[in-house]
Amino acid sequence: RYRGVALTYTAGMGTDCLFCRIVAGEIPATMVRETPTTLAFRDINPKAPVHVLVIPKEHYADVATLAQGDPALAGEVLATAAAVAEDEGLLGDGFRLMFNTGTYGGQEVFHAHAHLLGGAPLGPMLA
Ligand code: ADP
Repeated sequence: RYRGVALTYTAGMGTDCLFCRIVAGEIPATMVRETPTTLAFRDINPKAPVHVLVIPKEHYADVATLAQGDPALAGEVLATAAAVAEDEGLLGDGFRLMFNTGTYGGQEVFHAHAHLLGGAPLGPMLA
């Protein structure tokens, strides 16, 4: 469970990165869970009844950089996403966990993040 302001400042990127600024508490977000290394907050423009973004606090540009640079941290992002899925009651009916990556992947914020989507049937992935 989220227990307060995200205090861990990220060494990597700082003020130019939107999600680093959320980690730093400079931009508000609706937090749902925090661990020492990860943060989960609601997407500002939800595409499903449940739409939560899960990020490493440390700045990595995308999931490939994260997974290759710090595989344990990538695993912690997955574990946080699973915990949020459980909290949000998604384990029974299922959910989607997605990392948009790079230009073809439609990534717009270049701080690695998992989209956790659920709460309704989501349809085919590329629809
Ligand atoms: P896309 O917009 O194509 O999904 P990304 O995978 O990079 O691209 O996702 C960025 C996500 O961040 C978007 O779903 C967007 O709604 C969300 N977002 C942008 N600004 C904020 C914010 N301040 N707080 C929460 N979510 C945000």
